[in-house]
Amino acid sequence: MISVKQATDIVLENALPLPDETVSLHLAVGRALREPLTADRDFPPFDRVSMDGIAICFAMWEAGQRRFFIENIQAAGAPQLVLAQQEHCLEVMTGAMLPQGTDTVIRYEDLSIDAGFATILIEKIQRRQNIHEQGIDRKNGETIVAEGKLISPAELGVAATIGKSQLRVAALPRVCVLSSGDELVEVHETPLPHQIRKSNVHVMAAVLGTWGLASDLLHLPDDPAAIEETLGDCLKKYDVLLMSGGVSMGKFDHIPAALERLGVRQLFHKVSQRPGKPFWFGRSEGTVVFAFPGNPVSSFMCLHRYFWPWLRASQGLQVLENQYAALNEDYFFKPDLTYFLQVKLAAGQDGRLLATPVTGQGSGDLANLVDSDAFLELPLERKEFKAGEAFPIWRFR
Ligand code: AMP
Ligand code: MG
Repeated sequence: MISVKQATDIVLENALPLPDETVSLHLAVGRALREPLTADRDFPPFDRVSMDGIAICFAMWEAGQRRFFIENIQAAGAPQLVLAQQEHCLEVMTGAMLPQGTDTVIRYEDLSIDAGFATILIEKIQRRQNIHEQGIDRKNGETIVAEGKLISPAELGVAATIGKSQLRVAALPRVCVLSSGDELVEVHETPLPHQIRKSNVHVMAAVLGTWGLASDLLHLPDDPAAIEETLGDCLKKYDVLLMSGGVSMGKFDHIPAALERLGVRQLFHKVSQRPGKPFWFGRSEGTVVFAFPGNPVSSFMCLHRYFWPWLRASQGLQVLENQYAALNEDYFFKPDLTYFLQVKLAAGQDGRLLATPVTGQGSGDLANLVDSDAFLELPLERKEFKAGEAFPIWRFR
């Protein structure tokens, strides 16, 4: 059986190099940027007035002048005016170009205006105050967002301001989420005493949705011929199959054999972890197959712990450092397995993220996920974990 680390390495080695595609700016949030965003002008592109008021020549203030004749109004969106006489002033609006011949802006709140004159009411002003200086944020030609970043509304704002109505991003993989098992019925159905409603596929599709991925849903009965037929089709149509169930030691766990008959090469089966030990992973020419065990907490954990890093790597996104949280109480876990402990997270008064164990009834207890926020990854080599020790977290909330 391989370790979590080995399984992670194999999964990441099998990242699919997703091609580029171009999408309109408005559809770009949540996608992986495949080009740098470079300033096409200085940010801001001119000395920008940042307060409504008047613009003066500071030397006049220094010489003792307090009352200024208003020559004109410099509006935002109007070409730059020139102050005709340095002892005069111009009214200026936020977003306007600073008029030529002026170097200081005094806001209306610090003025009184009457009969075409502005009088400065405050005792202290500074040269170049209330001016957002040309190029102070970023310089023309500077890379503002590097390739390989996940686009959020902040990056979208940069793209808009440099005139990109379309962006080059990583294409998304075509994903199918499959449930398996004869005990499963649809959500709208009333299960017989020996049946349960499907939940995994809906949970998995919902998680994928939060990562910007659409998916199709399919079901496999516990019948080898039917499994092979459906999977054969899927391998032609999808880049990724995310399966739950049918990979353990049960008499009806036909999936690994069916996949191998279809030419999907097994890269590992079973990982020394709890939950999710029977996790099967393989690939064919064009499709990567994550076959997670059917227990709801197992498939949920594996999706976050393995598929999410795979997706980021396939999209060419920057590798993220693990986040950590400190255990809030001592914990003991005896088996020689990496344990993904369900925890509730809260930041203590010292700003440290604390993880409180939320012990449930194991990998079948999907209701326990409602009370927890993350999995805390407790290393296999250890059995005792002390309050205050920090471990990596995999957040799902
Ligand atoms: P398996 O991995 O097929 O042995 O399934 C393990 C457990 O998970 C069984 O109790 C199944 O009934 C349950 N299970 C499998 N698939 C699903 C699903 N899609 N939704 C909810 N429970 C499931
Ligand atoms: Mg099953």
